[in-house]
Amino acid sequence: MGLPRFILFAIIIAGGLWLWRRIKQRTQATAQPSPVHTMVCCAHCHVHLPENRAIQDNQQHWFCSSAHRSLGPQSRD
Ligand SMILES: [Zn+2]
Repeated sequence: MGLPRFILFAIIIAGGLWLWRRIKQRTQATAQPSPVHTMVCCAHCHVHLPENRAIQDNQQHWFCSSAHRSLGPQSRD
């Protein structure tokens, strides 16, 4: 009665440790910081957006959309 119970207990402990390690590894993988994108300002509507989502014209202006790029830069007032 003693030994089978001990084996079962050991299997449960080993399984628990294995599961805990897997969860720990997964949370470490997801906890990695996402790449930081430089924020740029739309030259037309002055909204801020990540550089990878912005559109740049040949005069070094950033725009939030192709529509705003075609409208061109506009002053804040
Ligand atoms: Zn815009």
